Amino acid sequence: MIFEGLSVGPMDNNCYIIGCGETREAAVIDPGDEGGRILRKLEDLKLKCSCIIMTHGHIDHIGALGQVLDATGAQVMIHERDAGMLTSPGRNLSMYTDTSIKFKAADKLLIDGDTVMVGKVELKIIHTPGHTPGGISILAGGKLITGDTLFAGSVGRSDFPGGDHDQLIRSIKEKLLVFSPETPVYPGHGPASTVGEESKNNPFLNGIWG
Ligand SMILES: [Zn+2]
Ligand SMILES: [Zn+2]
Repeated sequence: MIFEGLSVGPMDNNCYIIGCGETREAAVIDPGDEGGRILRKLEDLKLKCSCIIMTHGHIDHIGALGQVLDATGAQVMIHERDAGMLTSPGRNLSMYTDTSIKFKAADKLLIDGDTVMVGKVELKIIHTPGHTPGGISILAGGKLITGDTLFAGSVGRSDFPGGDHDQLIRSIKEKLLVFSPETPVYPGHGPASTVGEESKNNPFLNGIWG
């Protein structure tokens, strides 16, 4: 499995590229901004993007979706409960920024337990609501991509429409911290971590603030 992370845009969003070394197909996760850089990275890695998966529908995670889609014609995927965010500037929060954006509807709506194949690499979809109703995490090659659900030392905000803090903490404890402690965690913003590190030291999860 080929795995690359790019920090993009003013909010330092982590866009991840997951590729199959055999078929050279790739998934782009959260093309938040700087579509040109994402496309160049795909080219450098000699990968062809076959699907674009959003961990959730907020503007900072979907901002370059149009650019990556136009260049690749890839399948667009998002959890069914965040699907409306792609087509509504109000729901994806871009209405509150300089550029109101909306896209066509997704090609495939995801649910918990779905598997997406990228060449021979299996991506497992884990529904982790709380930051948004349709937030997902993705397990690929033993790595956990957690979007805005779980960060190194912090957790996602729950004060946007559809957010629910108790549900967010439940999602993290019941769906993410169940993986073995050495499992690497790749959040939607900021540095990587591990399941063990977050279980032990994340103040929102070990009873200090949570
Ligand atoms: Zn978000
Ligand atoms: Zn975000």
